[in-house]
Amino acid sequence: MKTQNHLFEDIILVTPDKNGRITTTDHAYVSVRGNTIHYAGQSFEMAIDGFNGAAYERYDGRNRMLLPALANIHGHLAMTLFRNQADDRNLHDWLFNVIFPREERLDETIVYTGTLLGIAEMIRSGTGAAADMYYYDEVVAQAALAAGFRLNFSCDAKKLRPDGQYDLLPQLLADRMKQYAGHPSDLLRVSLLVHSIYLYEDALYPELAALAETLNCPVQIHVSETIQEVSECVEKYGCRPPQQLEKFGFFRTPTLAAHCTFLDDDDRSILAKSPVVVAHNPSSNLKLGSGIADLAAMIDAGLNVGLGTDGAGSNNNLDLYREMRLAALLAKGTAGDAAKLSAGQLLDMASRIGMAGLGFANSGRITAGADADLQIMRCDVPSMTPLGDPVAALVYSSDASLVESLMVQGRFLLYKGELRTIDEEKLLAEARQAAKRLNA
Ligand SMILES: [Zn+2]
Repeated sequence: MKTQNHLFEDIILVTPDKNGRITTTDHAYVSVRGNTIHYAGQSFEMAIDGFNGAAYERYDGRNRMLLPALANIHGHLAMTLFRNQADDRNLHDWLFNVIFPREERLDETIVYTGTLLGIAEMIRSGTGAAADMYYYDEVVAQAALAAGFRLNFSCDAKKLRPDGQYDLLPQLLADRMKQYAGHPSDLLRVSLLVHSIYLYEDALYPELAALAETLNCPVQIHVSETIQEVSECVEKYGCRPPQQLEKFGFFRTPTLAAHCTFLDDDDRSILAKSPVVVAHNPSSNLKLGSGIADLAAMIDAGLNVGLGTDGAGSNNNLDLYREMRLAALLAKGTAGDAAKLSAGQLLDMASRIGMAGLGFANSGRITAGADADLQIMRCDVPSMTPLGDPVAALVYSSDASLVESLMVQGRFLLYKGELRTIDEEKLLAEARQAAKRLNA
């Protein structure tokens, strides 16, 4: 991949440090060499030192903020094509009566188009990396590579037999990991797809858990999304989903646990002692009428929590700026305490913690040696004036329309309002066609 040197000049730098504390630097200089951040601080000389006289592209940072690209740690990208097609329904009705029948019509072309559409939307809203749980995983990986976007995609390593039981496909998962987890672009990570505790026959769960452990493969799974899921699990197994999943052998490899809307103290301690990052999806939980996850309780219990949008079928957008704001407000309102969940904590969840959860531990911070995954936000608009505390401005005042540029691995995917790796006009036309076929 061709990258060049970049210098962002006289810009407001906002970034978590390695412990998650947010630091803000006015009149900062940030230089990027290849796909790595070379310098971040207040010295022009130190910023350009190391280019060794080679050419660099300058970016005027006045009235701009530079911060890490965000990480969307739960979603179903191709479900962008279900946007505004099935609203105002509860989760089980929505999933079983609307989504599953329409998904029978999916094919590779539709999934590629829907995935790329989701990626385009995320690039425009400051997100540089995401998790995906969907079908046709190779096509999903190809869309991410084409866009230069970082993706932790999940592989459905099983096959439905005519008798309704599943056969595991360990070789398929091993092949995917070999081909993509170590892909030279460093854009991709591979997870094992385990939809939830309520979709497969009992015997399959220990096999899936053992497969993940044997191959040391991360897992993506929905956990305790609705109260119905929890009560059915208690009725069937005598314990709640996190406890039963642990008994099956899960949570031994890095796991993205989506939703966790209904946790008790035992659930939280199981998840806190495991290599689990919870994907908090407040918009989707509210829109599907599922409920409100207790974010403050999860943080207090020592859980790692990042943010997700879930699919556009249930959100109906992939904008993490809205998600940060909503998560902060819900946490304060639920606790009856405005001091719960600071703007800085939300930004850290959406960047450093989320990136690590996806498997991109060297991203999510703007510091020398980190991956050059960053974005530029405009501040020269009424809603950002006066700016005041830049971190509060990002979480409470800004919105995705202010994202001017986004860089992943040292390459601009969005440059001053223009997508650089995606033909947007063509994509939107194809997406309208694909949605017509799917929602006919
Ligand atoms: Zn989901």
